[in-house]
Amino acid sequence: MDFPIERERMVEEQIRARGIKDELVLEAVKKVPRHQFVNESLVGEAYNDYPLPIPGGQTISQPYMVAMMTECLGLKGGERSLEVGTGSGYQAAVLAEIAYKVYSIERDPHLARMARELLSKLNYKNVVIKVGDGTLGWREFAPFDGIIVTAGSPVVPKPLQDQLKDGGRLIVPVGSSAFQNLMCVEKKGPKIKNRKICGCTFVPLIGDHGWTQE
Ligand code: SAH
Repeated sequence: MDFPIERERMVEEQIRARGIKDELVLEAVKKVPRHQFVNESLVGEAYNDYPLPIPGGQTISQPYMVAMMTECLGLKGGERSLEVGTGSGYQAAVLAEIAYKVYSIERDPHLARMARELLSKLNYKNVVIKVGDGTLGWREFAPFDGIIVTAGSPVVPKPLQDQLKDGGRLIVPVGSSAFQNLMCVEKKGPKIKNRKICGCTFVPLIGDHGWTQE
C-alpha cells in the first residue's frame, strides 16, 4: 500500500471536497502518517472515511472530523494549544504540524504512554502529554490560544473556558452520551461567544467537569 498516495486521496476526496479550505490544515493532514496511529490489523483502513477503534474502548476520529475541528481552531502557526483526550496521539500530531507547542492530556495511562512513544518515534518534539483529568485543563501552561476536546461532554468544562487566551477558541462536543453538538466557544474580552458547528458523536469525556465514571 502506498501510504502517501492514500493520504493525498483522503485529503482531496474526504476533506477538501467537503469544504475544508485552510491550507495549513490540509498540509498538516497530508503529512501525518495516520496508519501508524492504528493497530496493525487496521493499517489498510487507516485512510478510510470513518473513525477506528484504538485500545481501551476508545476511538481515533474520522479524518474529516479531525481536519474540521483543527480548522475551527483557526491556528495560523506559532500558537500554544491544548488537547483533551490524547487517545492515539493522531490529533495531537496534526496540531503539532501547525502550532508551536501542543499540550495534551489523557486519562488512560496506557494510551498516554503509547502516544508519547509514537510521537517521539515520529520526531514530534513540540508535544507534551500528561496523564490526568483534562476537564481541569492544564493551569501551569495556561492561557492557550486554542483548546480542542476530543471526547463528548455534558457541559462546556468551565476550567477550559477560563484557560482560554483573549481571542482564543475552544472546540468541544457538548450533549448527551449518544449525541453531541460540536461547539466553538470564543473568548472576546469579557464576552464568551458560543457557536454550534455540527452534530457529532464522541466517546464520553470522564472527569470532574464531564461525565462521572460509570
Ligand atoms: N484525539 C484522539 C481520540 C481520542 S478518543 C486521537 O486522535 O486518537 C477520546 C480520548 O479521551 C480517550 O482516549 C479517553 O480516554 C480520553 N478521555 C476521556 N475523558 C478524559 C479526561 N477527562 N481527560 C483526559 N482524557 C480523557
